[in-house]
Amino acid sequence: MSEPTADIYTALAAEWPVNETHTLPANMGTDLTYITGEQAITRLNTVLGFNEWTFEIREHGIHNGIAWVLGRFEIPSQGVVREQFGAQKLRSTPSGDEMKSAATDCLKKCAMSVGVGLYLSHKETIAEAQAARQQARQENVQRQAPVTALPRPISQPPACADCKQAITPTGRFTVESIVNTGVSKYGRALCLACGKKAQEEARLTEQEVREDLKQAEMQAAG
Ligand SMILES: [Zn+2]
Repeated sequence: MSEPTADIYTALAAEWPVNETHTLPANMGTDLTYITGEQAITRLNTVLGFNEWTFEIREHGIHNGIAWVLGRFEIPSQGVVREQFGAQKLRSTPSGDEMKSAATDCLKKCAMSVGVGLYLSHKETIAEAQAARQQARQENVQRQAPVTALPRPISQPPACADCKQAITPTGRFTVESIVNTGVSKYGRALCLACGKKAQEEARLTEQEVREDLKQAEMQAAG
């Protein structure tokens, strides 16, 4: 069993000119770029030869409003056998061609597993991660109490927005520097302990997005 040679892989994975790809306006202002099933087939035919690859639907069904197929893709001369799922959500009035769309999706995923259009999936994943991160940030901001003005009482020390305890000077940090750091970084005045917690939360969100991205990349790579 050998994988396609580097040359064949390069030809399969080659990018399309931008004006030959298609875009779907997606959520949160990030467009999804894709190729059609026909483009994937043409790429396989051109690079491998029309009789050098096979695709068959092994199983199919409808589950929870989704038409799904399990397809098998083979390039016998390269010893390549790949199986992938394809899916298509049923429309509110199923038109009957959802199964065909699921099969096309499946074929595209199989082709992607040998490089065809893989770069688009990578772009899409990055865009999704960026959108998710942006949304997480927005939600974070919404959860926080609006900052109308810097608390600068003279008689009373400012209180931490989270634990409500008075912020006191600590080590080389003045009350003002602690408050300013909290407001500029987290949108609210925080004591050092709560500031550390907020920092940890922000770091975790970032890490989650990165892990999601890594997983999606691994899935895309098959
Ligand atoms: Zn606190």
